[in-house]
Amino acid sequence: MPIQLLKEVEDEVIHLLRDLIRIDTTNPPGNETKAAKYLSENLDKEGFKCELFESAPERGSVITRLKGTGEKPILLLLSHLDVVAANAEEWSVDPFAGVVKDGFVWGRGALDMKGMTAIEVMVMKLLKRNGVKLKGDVVLAATADEEQGGLSGADYLLRNYPEKIFATYVLNEGGGLAVPTQNRNVFTVQTAEKGILWFKVKAKGTPGHGSMPNVADNAIMRINKVVEKLGNYRSRVSLVPTVKSFLEEIAREDTALKEPFSRLLANPELADEILDELAKTAAQLAEEVRPRLRMTITPTIIHGGIKENVIPSECETVFDCRILPGQESAQTIGLIKALLEEVDSEKLVFESLQMQEPSESKAETPLYDAISAVLREFEPNCGVTPMLTTGGTDSRFFRRKGSTCYGFQPMHPEMSSGKVVKREHGTDERISIENLVFGTSVLYETVKKFMT
Ligand SMILES: [Zn+2]
Repeated sequence: MPIQLLKEVEDEVIHLLRDLIRIDTTNPPGNETKAAKYLSENLDKEGFKCELFESAPERGSVITRLKGTGEKPILLLLSHLDVVAANAEEWSVDPFAGVVKDGFVWGRGALDMKGMTAIEVMVMKLLKRNGVKLKGDVVLAATADEEQGGLSGADYLLRNYPEKIFATYVLNEGGGLAVPTQNRNVFTVQTAEKGILWFKVKAKGTPGHGSMPNVADNAIMRINKVVEKLGNYRSRVSLVPTVKSFLEEIAREDTALKEPFSRLLANPELADEILDELAKTAAQLAEEVRPRLRMTITPTIIHGGIKENVIPSECETVFDCRILPGQESAQTIGLIKALLEEVDSEKLVFESLQMQEPSESKAETPLYDAISAVLREFEPNCGVTPMLTTGGTDSRFFRRKGSTCYGFQPMHPEMSSGKVVKREHGTDERISIENLVFGTSVLYETVKKFMT
């Protein structure tokens, strides 16, 4: 029988998502327990045994498992229950009402990532209802705290209950959205993410009166040089396997991209020149590729001064630095300190604020093959490509423990009256009903293909 969209579960998956959106899990504070309990009750009704874990009061996560014969490794369907804040005044609907209109489910978390939670729950139910004979366990975990770093959610569970949540393979957020190219859709699978290095630089000076600038030694002038130096720094280009495959796949059947991307792949040192040229016709794409080729340093906070006529004795800036898989925080810190030395060797203080190592999974696995095969059953001429995200997800905790993790919520570009919608963390976040059904169908078939 040819592969088909599971239109019959449309109402059920919409219902799940609406209910989840209506439970406000804005983090901070999170309050994910309510959502975890909702899922647990919903799944209990179909004979699942769910377990609830709280890292702190109201910070709940839920886990359930479908047993397999043990012939195949464990697969985890991972999602997070918390969402970022939404300012209702900026929205055209109530962000926590779970409104359905114009073919979309609207609300905070529709894309990031209660939509995928609903899809994963639906997939678990279908596996059970249809009596799919699994060769390995399929685990579902919907966790707390991803938006604040995951320490009270996925990381907490992995540290305290590895036997409940660890899996050789993990499907999570971060990828799946198709990139429309000239002749076809290219579906992305997130196989890698950059690491985070947040740091602060404090510039010291000698205070003085604002009316006599040369008597003082102005910390603001000093931090200004630091911002210039680090903010404009362009580090060496480095092509990690995921990005190489991405550029090759995106350009494969696109006449406009084939030439620049082939040139870039052959001469990474000319990347900026090539992307500057590409930006003239495809600015968005060029600027999406650029930070995937190198470590970046961005100034994000600046503080200093107390009064109009006082030259302050210190001033500080916070930087958001993102490093590629294969690069190490310690080395990057060394490089940053060397740059600071060039500005001033005595009056600058470096302080590291937070570090998360980058992570990457291979694309050469049977799970990746299953994903590609299923996508091509739904859409024969589509492309499939590994992708690196510049932001982080909970996948990093699992990759650190040796799991193969893919960010994969299969979606077509969201179109609304001719325009592509992309609103994670933004206003009017929404997911099309078409993508809810498509996502459920592709994920269900993928799990079936991979686990039987
Ligand atoms: Zn997310």
